[in-house]
Amino acid sequence: MGRVLIIGAGGVGTVVAHKMAANSDVFTDILLASRTKSKCDAIAKAIGGNRIQTAQVDANKVPELVQLITSFKPDLVVNVALPYQDLTIMEACLQTKTAYLDTANYEPENEAKFEYSWQWAYQDRFREAGITAILGCGFDPGVTSIYTAYAAKHHFDEIQYLDIVDCNAGDHGKAFATNFNPEINIREVTQKGKYWEDGEWKYTEPHEVHQALNYPEIGPIESYLIYHEELESLVKNFPTLKRARFWMTFGQEYLTHLRVIQNIGMAGIEPIMYEGKEIVPIQFLKAVLPNPGDLGENYTGWTSIGCRIKGLKEGKEKTYYIYNNCSHEQAYKETGTQGVSYTTGVPAMVGAMMYLKGIWTGAGVFNVEEFNPDPFLDEVAKQGLPWVELHDVDLEL
Ligand code: NDP
Repeated sequence: MGRVLIIGAGGVGTVVAHKMAANSDVFTDILLASRTKSKCDAIAKAIGGNRIQTAQVDANKVPELVQLITSFKPDLVVNVALPYQDLTIMEACLQTKTAYLDTANYEPENEAKFEYSWQWAYQDRFREAGITAILGCGFDPGVTSIYTAYAAKHHFDEIQYLDIVDCNAGDHGKAFATNFNPEINIREVTQKGKYWEDGEWKYTEPHEVHQALNYPEIGPIESYLIYHEELESLVKNFPTLKRARFWMTFGQEYLTHLRVIQNIGMAGIEPIMYEGKEIVPIQFLKAVLPNPGDLGENYTGWTSIGCRIKGLKEGKEKTYYIYNNCSHEQAYKETGTQGVSYTTGVPAMVGAMMYLKGIWTGAGVFNVEEFNPDPFLDEVAKQGLPWVELHDVDLEL
């Protein structure tokens, strides 16, 4: 049915490649390209059957990307490299009139800040070129945004309060490790908290607001209010929201390490001179931390991510909780990666499938909640991420 170019051969790229290879009726030709070709080759070898072609590309360089896209002629480019590469890859897609999908919004490398403005600015150019860009199709953003769209479509006349809850109750046996790219992860979780209330953004100190929340099959875990990118598009696309927040669980050990890393300057993004050479502290830190893609082997336990929503249905107040629990061990058995890579890669593959099957269409730049949630949720459940709905329950928030 379609040709696809995957860019990025980390934990998420590994899952996307595995799942696309397993759906050969939709993904007939797959090229996996990344900065380090040997990583693409290792993934292709693990999948076997000559299903995956590989290539080297520096996705910071538009001409290199254009050349690769022009020679392979994919119907869709799936960007699972880093957020720093979003704009160069979108630019190359525009120049070659090729559809685009990613899982994280653009972030400039020299400033710890992420927002959709840079990618939304491409709206007119994608529309005029008649091509589709699908933004934020991982789990959060991604499935959480689609859960919200599904709730608004089927269960509420008006959604008013949204709390996205992201729990990792897994244990990888390391004193400190991040579950996805350490540089991006540490930049995300050390910034100020931010949430939407009564028509404006409100700010908190990092990790200032927290409370224990009960996660299904897991139990109570301390959860911290942080800012997460899907809040920006969800409050725009669901203007009835009076409040929208995002909560993530962190263990005490993780927070202690994080505090030390910050206090000693290892989370810094400004280059420093070391023995006559410029290094960026957080990039050096990444080099000595465990590789998130290698955590899977001894990872036990579950992730539990979902949306807790309150609003109105036929004039009455209603509460609703939709979530997925994913086993790290199961994810490792299937793809050789841990649950966080798995819960990101499976939705990216399903979003690509929605595009190639002509179910999600349109010219322009779209956040995933703007598409029909029903076919996506049917498929994502079949592909390894089933979801559970609870009605009229105590949301705790
Ligand atoms: P990794 O660091 O494991 O992998 C990133 C890959 O991108 C690596 O293979 C890296 O190459 C490659 N890469 C980096 N720079 C370039 C470049 N200039 N050109 C070509 N390739 C490059 O990250 P993850 O797999 O954990 O995460 C991938 C993406 O998924 C990130 O954007 C992350 O933010 C996003 N994500 C989204 C989530 C969601 O739910 N929406 C959750 C988790 C992650 P090399 O191997 O040479 O370093």
